Amino acid sequence: MSAALIEDTKHILDKLVAFPTISHDSNLAMVDYMADFLGQLGARVFLQHNEDGRKANLFATLGPNKDGGVVLSGHSDVVPVEGQDWSSDPFQMFESNGRLYGRGTCDMKGFLACCLATSRGAAELNLARPLHFAFTYDEEVGCFGAQALVRELARRQIKPAAALIGEPTMMQVIEGHKGCYEYTTNFTGLEGHGSQPDLGVNAIQYAARFITHLLGLSESLKGQAMVGSRFDPPWATIQVGRIFGGAGRNIIAGNCSVEWEMRPVQPSDSALVKQSLDTFINQQLLPEMKTVSPSAAIETIVVGEVEGLQVVAQSEARDIVYEITGANGADVVAFGTEAGLFQEAGISAIICGPGSIEQAHKPNEFVEIDQLKSCLKMLSRLQTKLM
Ligand SMILES: [Zn+2]
Repeated sequence: MSAALIEDTKHILDKLVAFPTISHDSNLAMVDYMADFLGQLGARVFLQHNEDGRKANLFATLGPNKDGGVVLSGHSDVVPVEGQDWSSDPFQMFESNGRLYGRGTCDMKGFLACCLATSRGAAELNLARPLHFAFTYDEEVGCFGAQALVRELARRQIKPAAALIGEPTMMQVIEGHKGCYEYTTNFTGLEGHGSQPDLGVNAIQYAARFITHLLGLSESLKGQAMVGSRFDPPWATIQVGRIFGGAGRNIIAGNCSVEWEMRPVQPSDSALVKQSLDTFINQQLLPEMKTVSPSAAIETIVVGEVEGLQVVAQSEARDIVYEITGANGADVVAFGTEAGLFQEAGISAIICGPGSIEQAHKPNEFVEIDQLKSCLKMLSRLQTKLM
């Protein structure tokens, strides 16, 4: 591999790190930089903005205008640095001992830099299949960008065959992860004096019964674990992370919110939970609440439903990555990615990228230059394969 390619990658990564694309802020400056970069190489580029126009997905294509291409996918956003003890400016990349430090170097601007650096070479080739780039917003807060992007691809009738998601896996091939479904369930009761509990509807007490029901479901899910599951733990999990409600000890609680999540392994897991909750709420809790207060309510807000990546017997994406990396085995991981969304849209998906998840989201985040070299090698081989 040429030293110039590595230097170019470092130079691009330095630029990408300098855009402070924390999820709650705009990513437009960085998207414009990448759109310009790819546009100048002759790629067909479109941006897809979010509702308030402060963020955008970037989708670009090199090669022929047809189905069956390969998508290189990564998110443009990074997690915040507040409260973290960095020993240097997180948005100014610096090199030390074969490592590149800075927010996002590992998760996952290092991969984006490799994509951009190798795209110069790809633009010179006569590709037989399209090479696409999908750079999304809001991955870290619920994969909202990718959800919008897969819908947009369908709308534009762009039908890639496979997607390679470059999340940090130390260049190991990852073929599966659980889903991550996040919810807030709000209970609205009826306030009253603590001495007359039957005259009010205690939202906290109904929330407690709801949580007990959730815990029962989480036990049932253990019995639904797939035989030979490689996940740890092997079954789908449910977890209540936050609860708040009520006004004081001697007041019947008028409201309560429960923030909870479920990590399904297979579609039947979430189906079981949703159906059981629906029945419990509509046939037991709500009727009881409404006999005292007709305006009592239970409402569940979907914060995000990031699909799991199912391990499948036939996977073009896995075959391609085995071929271009020389790997002959794939693993599963505990963290969620955008891969499940591509798979759900009918695009074979696999995860393989530079850097370690150990460094993601932490102060003094870094990526090893050797990891970027392996990634550059993989991407160069991919281009040759698409010729
Ligand atoms: Zn990531």
